[in-house]
Amino acid sequence: MGLLERSDAYWRFAGQCTQCGHCTKACDSLVKADMTLGDIAHALLEAERTADSADELRKNIAMNGQLVQAVRGCFFCTQCKNTCFAHNDVCDLIYNARVDFQNLGLIPRDTWSSVLVDEEWDIFTAYRAIHGIGFADLTRHVDTDYAPAETGFDVAFFPGCSLAAYAPQLTREIFETIEGFGDSVTMLDSCCGSSLRSAGFFDRAETLCDKNVQELVQSGAKKLICVCPGCANDMRKAIIRCAADIEVISLPQYLLSKGFVPKNALPDTPLCISKSCQDRDGTYLEQTCELLGVDPSTPTIFHGCCGAGGAVSAFDPDRQAHQADEKLSFAPEGSTVVTMCPTCTYTYAFRLMSAPRNLTNKHYAELLFESQIDWEMNFYQLNSMWYGEYGQWLAEVFA
Ligand code: SF4
Ligand code: SF4
Repeated sequence: MGLLERSDAYWRFAGQCTQCGHCTKACDSLVKADMTLGDIAHALLEAERTADSADELRKNIAMNGQLVQAVRGCFFCTQCKNTCFAHNDVCDLIYNARVDFQNLGLIPRDTWSSVLVDEEWDIFTAYRAIHGIGFADLTRHVDTDYAPAETGFDVAFFPGCSLAAYAPQLTREIFETIEGFGDSVTMLDSCCGSSLRSAGFFDRAETLCDKNVQELVQSGAKKLICVCPGCANDMRKAIIRCAADIEVISLPQYLLSKGFVPKNALPDTPLCISKSCQDRDGTYLEQTCELLGVDPSTPTIFHGCCGAGGAVSAFDPDRQAHQADEKLSFAPEGSTVVTMCPTCTYTYAFRLMSAPRNLTNKHYAELLFESQIDWEMNFYQLNSMWYGEYGQWLAEVFA
């Protein structure tokens, strides 16, 4: 192996890229870097060719500000891929580049130390522990203080790390609704590992998803109900990798199949349904619209990233804020923005708190169920835990 662990991916990409430049025009970050995706592959290979040691390679890359911008400024939104006649796989290129960046120590530890979601403590588990949020009574396929592990479940419910931490009542209400339909259900209280991928720990993210699949197999569940399209994508890939016989369905799809009627009337405001960049083929969007009884031609926000993708905020917070603003600018004054992915909901809530405007921000599950997400409280609790009695512990754990 050469100095770059993932050089095969760069050779592959360079061989497929005609340098037509279409991708650059689709992306502010590539424009700023003045690079095509093919240039990224070439620049990495050139940095390796001119280095005799890992230290030299690290310096070569670190001194190439354009390359660092292009690799760390990527949301994985795939907007550029849609302009590429060859459909060159930007995610494959940038995920591999992030792995090499991580190997070379080019991604500062303080940008990812709190999101190692395969370890005991990450920002979500710490938040939950400090604020007394737990679901041990719902993870019925796991041995807990409540009961020994059971198996033979019909379905497993996967709320994902954001919803479980920031919307515990909503998470419980969804679980109880599934149970109310007569399905035996357990909860997969885990994460899809997307933050690990963004930080360059690609293999660890896959291992985490594979571990989730092993849990599901032990639970006996034949269906996995996912709230978020991103979790669904990653778990589908893991299920294929592990050759398991489990179907991944979206929460809206499951609720449609059960004839669920939303518990709330739709808001009076115009709805602006936001398509998640992880919902590549728009299936989540369609199923959610059908469940809500909303005309799919309702104005949608443009199909780009909310700004949370790729942990860009850790590299360039302004780029994240600008992206969130740009996407929110498509929402008519006074409308309710409806998101598919709880991390998008979080991102918009944070942006609307920093730069208020006349918009309401809801996750689609909030339009279906009675429990609502209290972002003001969540942000207060997130902030305060760094200063209260747990502040020092948190600082040490995430040092
Ligand atoms: S995936 Fe999105 S952010 Fe990344 S290079 Fe392509 S357009 Fe830019
Ligand atoms: S659009 Fe595709 S072929 Fe053209 S420069 Fe970008 S990656 Fe290469």
